[in-house]
Amino acid sequence: MKLQLIDRKTEVSNVESFIFQPEEPLSWKAGQFLHYILHHEPTDDRGSDRWFTISAAPFEGHVMLTTRFTDEKGSSFKNKLRNLKIGKSIEVSFLEGDFTLEDPEKEHVFIAGGIGITPFRSILKQLDQDKKPINVTLLYSNRDQNIVYKDELEEIAKSNLNFKIHYIFSPEHIDEKKIRELIPDIQKPIFYISGPEPMVENLGTLLKGMGIAEDHIKQDWFPGYPLE
Ligand SMILES: Cc1cc2nc3c(=O)[nH]c(=O)nc-3n(C[C@H](O)[C@H](O)[C@H](O)COP(=O)(O)OP(=O)(O)OC[C@H]3O[C@@H](n4cnc5c(N)ncnc54)[C@H](O)[C@@H]3O)c2cc1C
Repeated sequence: MKLQLIDRKTEVSNVESFIFQPEEPLSWKAGQFLHYILHHEPTDDRGSDRWFTISAAPFEGHVMLTTRFTDEKGSSFKNKLRNLKIGKSIEVSFLEGDFTLEDPEKEHVFIAGGIGITPFRSILKQLDQDKKPINVTLLYSNRDQNIVYKDELEEIAKSNLNFKIHYIFSPEHIDEKKIRELIPDIQKPIFYISGPEPMVENLGTLLKGMGIAEDHIKQDWFPGYPLE
């Protein structure tokens, strides 16, 4: 299937959202992702395809891809994406993913590392739209004060008193002390972790070591990024 680029938006410095209109109807669950193919020459050793979360909520009716562009030499894929003009198309397939919310009545802790916020935007926007409970504490760790979706998240928090946001800026990190300080009863919530692969791995191991049951931990790994 093809998606047509209809708009783009700079979220913060070096992070952009690309808004696409699917050429055929596409329905997805908040938190799912797509496989993108962008043919280009020359293609570096990372190839011409990538996975990206659909950062738009289903009710928004369009697909959104939000990504970070590196200051260093980026991949040829990202270079092609960055130069994609409005009206151009991108090929997608394999809508997948179970990083979705099952029961909004339950308590949740969402842990985002930088651009790992993308599935949480989709999930939170959809819950807010559907007027479903948002029993979520978001621990959002970022390299600096340039927070992607800051205004949108804080807007949702204004009308959902059980949605709490804590920012953790580098060089501070999310560790056992921080989790115990911000989450009063760690056995109760379901933990969702999303971000660069090494961070998600480390935090999963940390939570298990803290005695959190495996069925209370859900992880979404973004390969290709170093630790935030
Ligand atoms: C299920 C899933 C969902 C995802 N969702 C998102 C999402 O919503 N947003 C998002 O941004 N990413 C997401 N990703 C990750 C995405 O697919 C890319 O892996 C990631 O964005 C890195 O992109 P890139 O490889 O083009 O590298 P770049 O972003 O261009 O660079 C990242 C780092 O790799 C280095 N690098 C770049 N090219 C090379 C090279 N050829 N060889 C060695 N090092 C290189 C750069 O210097 C930089 O340090 C997701 C991945 C999965 C599996």
